[in-house]
Amino acid sequence: MSFRDVLLRRLPALAILATLVPIGPAQAAGEPLVVYTARKYQLVESLFQEYGKERGIEVKFVTDDGAPLIQRLTAEGAASPADLFISVDAGDLWRAKQADLLQPIRSPALEAAIPAHLRDPEGHWFGLAVRARTLAYSTARVKPAELSSYADLAAPRWKGRLCLRSGKAVYNQSLVAMFINDLGEEATEKLVRGWIANLAADPFSNDTLMLKAIAAGQCDVGITNSYYLGRLQHEHPALPVQLFWADQAGRGTHVNISGGGVTKHAKNRAEAVRFLEWLASPAIQQRFAAVNFEFPANAGVDPLPEVRAWGAFKPNQVNVGLIGRTQPAAVMLIDRAGWR
Ligand code: FE
Repeated sequence: MSFRDVLLRRLPALAILATLVPIGPAQAAGEPLVVYTARKYQLVESLFQEYGKERGIEVKFVTDDGAPLIQRLTAEGAASPADLFISVDAGDLWRAKQADLLQPIRSPALEAAIPAHLRDPEGHWFGLAVRARTLAYSTARVKPAELSSYADLAAPRWKGRLCLRSGKAVYNQSLVAMFINDLGEEATEKLVRGWIANLAADPFSNDTLMLKAIAAGQCDVGITNSYYLGRLQHEHPALPVQLFWADQAGRGTHVNISGGGVTKHAKNRAEAVRFLEWLASPAIQQRFAAVNFEFPANAGVDPLPEVRAWGAFKPNQVNVGLIGRTQPAAVMLIDRAGWR
């Protein structure tokens, strides 16, 4: 079994961490580019390979969750081989910047391609794909007119009808962090406690199981990252579950990013910047997002037709990095409210 097969079989993270995966020509001309990525192997591998070929360099990468990659960058310090950190949560990027693991870059190309609310104002990181975390509902038992906001799911009429993913998932921590920024802690805690009181089942370990529970009739409504429904709808076009854009009359639907930044101790800084610019370019943006049913961060690029079919929505335009600032408070609030 090749190392690549090992990765694809998703052996424990440590086995993956032990070795960098080299991609590209064996005798590459330039310095290799090293990427630490929380974006999953199958979502990045072919693009990394293509970039390496185009540039005549080796692209090596490590995949793991965001938090262990941040720990690893911290432990390695100046000796880290990483040139680039790619995350699937804006809070992780904010934390990496706070921990002095990223360096600011100025790039007119990146600044023109990526809207201001999806990148760090000082250039430490840039969003590359956007996901909305919004309401999902049973098309058999709920009419879209019955839905409006995240807070509404705490109303008594949803008692025994709501499904949620675990409060330990970073996506939910980021959602609650956004509420804390927008509404304050007290109102957020009231909202979360209302949700917990309405649960039809114990929280699920991932969004896909939660969506399947809605489809199966275990509950009527839930909260999901948009791309998980995209994947399920692709496999099962008749799935009786649809997305609803939350908070359109208020601040807009919560969005998060998968994005990247150049590491503080990058050995190949120029190539890392060039790679980010390449990822933000229109043709690559389209594919980077499409492979995971996401929205391109580059506003001039269309998502997949299946994603476009969900309709346009107003996103919450607060800078996504601010999620990071209130994530620690969100984790404590979620715990207090009993969201397991
Ligand atoms: Fe995900």
